[in-house]
Amino acid sequence: MAKTREEVLERIFARRAERLGVPLDEARRVPRAKPLFLKAAEKRARQLGITPQEVLESDLRSMQQSSYPSPECLTPEEVQEFSETGSLCEERMGHVENCEPCCALLAAVDPPVELVEQFLEQARQAAFAVGSIEKGRILPTSIT
Ligand SMILES: [Zn+2]
Repeated sequence: MAKTREEVLERIFARRAERLGVPLDEARRVPRAKPLFLKAAEKRARQLGITPQEVLESDLRSMQQSSYPSPECLTPEEVQEFSETGSLCEERMGHVENCEPCCALLAAVDPPVELVEQFLEQARQAAFAVGSIEKGRILPTSIT
């Protein structure tokens, strides 16, 4: 027998309450944040003067037409190697120079120090706020 929307929501809230260890009423009050991809689409739509729907359709077309990843694209192990050593062998760097997605991937694993420190500070504050760590206990205070 098909469940009603309310029955499905109640099951989700009950699971959320159990998972978070909070009363059912509190689980129902968890804010429903707008998904990040939709926020990003709305921001880009404002910049381009088009609708968020048009941005999402354009992104979907790009993904459908993309040939990434190709057999020559970086493996997760190579990305890990780059994040640890800051380089790859000459042949693989040659691929990166000619492959936009792989180039963007390596740029993303090597963010500016300021952004990493900003992220760590936010993570420290969030962890401290929920009481999961004592300030400065688990997360490093600096990456330098
Ligand atoms: Zn590639």
